[in-house]
Amino acid sequence: MSAVIVVAIDAPLRRLFDYRAPPQVAPETLLPGVRVWVPFGRRRVVGVLVETRASSELPDAKLKTAIAVVDETPVFDAPLLELLRWAADYYRHPPGEVISAALPAPLRTGDSMLETTERWMLSAAARTGSLPALPTRANRLRELADFLQARESADAAGLATLSSRWRDHVRELEKRGWVTRLRVADPPPPRLAVRAGPGPSPTPEQLAAIQAISAARGRHVSFLLHGVTGSGKTEVYLRAIEEVVARDEQALVLVPEIALTPQLVARFAERFDAPLAVLHSSLTDQERLRAWRAARSGSAPVVIGTRSAIFAPLARPGLIVVDEEHDSSYKQQEGFRYSARDLALARAQRLAIPVLLGSATPSLESLERARAGKAVLLSLPNRTAGASQPQLHIIDLRRHAATQGIATPTMLSIKRHLDAGGQVLLYLNRRGYAPSLFCPACGWVAPCPRCDARLTVHQRERRLHCHHCGTEQRAPEICPTCGEAVKPVGQGTERIEETLAQFFPDVPLARIDRDAVRRRGALEAALDRVTSGEVRLLVGTQMLTKGHHFPDVSLVVVLNADQGLFGTDFRASERLAQTIVQVAGRAGRAERPGEVLIQTEYPEHPLLAQLVSGGYDAFASAALKERELARWPPFARIAVLRAEAARREAPIEFLDRAREIAAALAGPGVEILGPASAPMERRAGHYRAQLLLHAASHGPLQRLFSRWLPAVEELPEARRVRWSLDVDPLELF
Ligand code: ADP
Ligand code: ZN
Ligand code: ZN
Repeated sequence: MSAVIVVAIDAPLRRLFDYRAPPQVAPETLLPGVRVWVPFGRRRVVGVLVETRASSELPDAKLKTAIAVVDETPVFDAPLLELLRWAADYYRHPPGEVISAALPAPLRTGDSMLETTERWMLSAAARTGSLPALPTRANRLRELADFLQARESADAAGLATLSSRWRDHVRELEKRGWVTRLRVADPPPPRLAVRAGPGPSPTPEQLAAIQAISAARGRHVSFLLHGVTGSGKTEVYLRAIEEVVARDEQALVLVPEIALTPQLVARFAERFDAPLAVLHSSLTDQERLRAWRAARSGSAPVVIGTRSAIFAPLARPGLIVVDEEHDSSYKQQEGFRYSARDLALARAQRLAIPVLLGSATPSLESLERARAGKAVLLSLPNRTAGASQPQLHIIDLRRHAATQGIATPTMLSIKRHLDAGGQVLLYLNRRGYAPSLFCPACGWVAPCPRCDARLTVHQRERRLHCHHCGTEQRAPEICPTCGEAVKPVGQGTERIEETLAQFFPDVPLARIDRDAVRRRGALEAALDRVTSGEVRLLVGTQMLTKGHHFPDVSLVVVLNADQGLFGTDFRASERLAQTIVQVAGRAGRAERPGEVLIQTEYPEHPLLAQLVSGGYDAFASAALKERELARWPPFARIAVLRAEAARREAPIEFLDRAREIAAALAGPGVEILGPASAPMERRAGHYRAQLLLHAASHGPLQRLFSRWLPAVEELPEARRVRWSLDVDPLELF
């Protein structure tokens, strides 16, 4: 009796598939993690073998036979394969999609996992003399055949010594059956001793952190490195990695967005005299495959990447670092909704290695883990090298006149800092010219035809954009209902740029947001103009808050703190505090003392008051108390079932049915809230609603999901909506 193999296939089904082992394959050679070709429906596809079994529950007649095994050695080692299976189960996502997402695209279609080289050899027929002779005048062809006759095979470099047109000659010989082409796996790349370049001598706090991490080698310890901006966290990563690399192990470093932090990658490349494997979303398939192979073979001692790099294979893992661990980009918001930060903890635990989460504004989850003793807190409370912490001041927008969103005292401060030779950074989380187009005569506001939202004015293009669905249209000059002139109201970064240019016509100015740096390389160019000191005034969105080091920025202005103060999401205040502290951290990173102005209409709001008087720590402890009282994460676990449809009633009808089933199945301790429509109910023509599940711990939710989701999948209402489950959601809608 032949063994049954269980295969993960890239399909939207929450299950694995049984096959008979391929013919002529000894079952004991089938290792979990190898790829196999299998028949699937009417296609042949590449799947990943996850286990072998003696028998299947399928009747013999239904069991299909796998076609062939692709790999000699597994693509995923056992701990990684197990992590992927666990993640599929935890996030309730189809296992085949999870496993396939962890593979570079060319490997999903059966390409070799190893680096290979083309070689050519004389065919068997040619060697035995059973082919018609080559034409006597074909000297080049005969020369090539003789060359191959004299050796087992030759590569491109070898053949190129014969003639510059060797490829043509080889092709001709292949056509005549004289030559066979092979792909041969390359020997593993040589392992070089990695030398680390010099860095500054660590401060006592840095040293304590480095020593704690070093003492945890070979064990699972999770660390939270909480250091104010500019306190030398990156320097701690570099030192900790130096030790890992010196032990001939690999470090995996996760960063929020590589395109936004070219400086960080450059710092790693500079420090380590070794190839870095860099993994991010704008690589070509071949580039990604190359980096993946370098991680897997171990030839890259340091692997840096964004979210999905958490699935990079590692030959000799020694440490995982998650930089800016609070950043929301670690959570995938569609499809397989995993958190790379949380998976980093799970992976490090399985590998029995330390994991280091770093941030100036740690997530409340991570702070609570440290408080509860599940993570070791390492603190860097001071900035390095003489830089002092910036001073935060509130500007009351109700008390001061403002020009296009810039209050008079703010304008005076900008002037003072510019006159003193400093750079000034203005932050506004709203791109475009103005957030709406308004008719003063009749009150009409330009609406998005597909969302319950207003269109944003983009003045330079004279167009209106929806920032939720991407709809674009020409901006009208007159009101479509009453014919009077319309005007843009409110401020976006484009309008702030215009206002600043009017007030400071001689000061070089740059805007950094998604519109301004759309072209490849535009962001790097703009950042260079800032670091070189050419640009003195800088206005931008979230993009400016991420880790950049601008030594001459002495004033940071948060133009409108109020957008986050009254958010409907339970995480809104945490996000706002993190953003303010991060953007404030761009001020005064070198010798110049920094100043930060926060403009608001609610100066007495407790969140702002706490931030100004006690900094992020004071905010975080108050926010954690609030979460504990309200029993929100991290003091509870939640999941949301979301649904959307073009017909308004369909999502609620589906969620009502899902709720009934959940209520019947749920054990004690699971609360079901909703269904409720999204605050912005219609987006891109679809109406949206959700059901929220809440429990004190994850166990009761997982037990419910196992029985509930199969029933939800079968609901007739499920076919009338697009639905998804989000476990540990970051945002509620
Ligand atoms: P963070 O990652 O916390 O923002 P960085 O590691 O980027 O901080 O350090 C901020 C600046 O201080 C960098 O220019 C860095 O080179 C410098 N720096 C870091 N550690 C030291 C140190 N021990 N002595 C002197 N300068 C340091
Ligand atoms: Zn009108
Ligand atoms: Zn829209």
